[in-house]
Amino acid sequence: MKVYVSEECIACHRCYIYYPEVFAKDEGGYAKPRTTDHIDNKFEDMAEDAIETCPVGVISFDW
Ligand code: SF4
Repeated sequence: MKVYVSEECIACHRCYIYYPEVFAKDEGGYAKPRTTDHIDNKFEDMAEDAIETCPVGVISFDW
């Protein structure tokens, strides 16, 4: 699984507070994936929850 965050992130902090294994923040507080490569399989549930709970739906993924 690869994780993406679009430029419409509103910097609500949720994803990288709850799932720092998957997400980091940039200098403006906007989220970005911690890696541009595939995430570890053990973090996939975290990524899926972040995708479902992002208030503006800007996190996506592919395989
Ligand atoms: S949960 Fe969504 S809006 Fe909030 S910081 Fe993460 S990507 Fe941005």
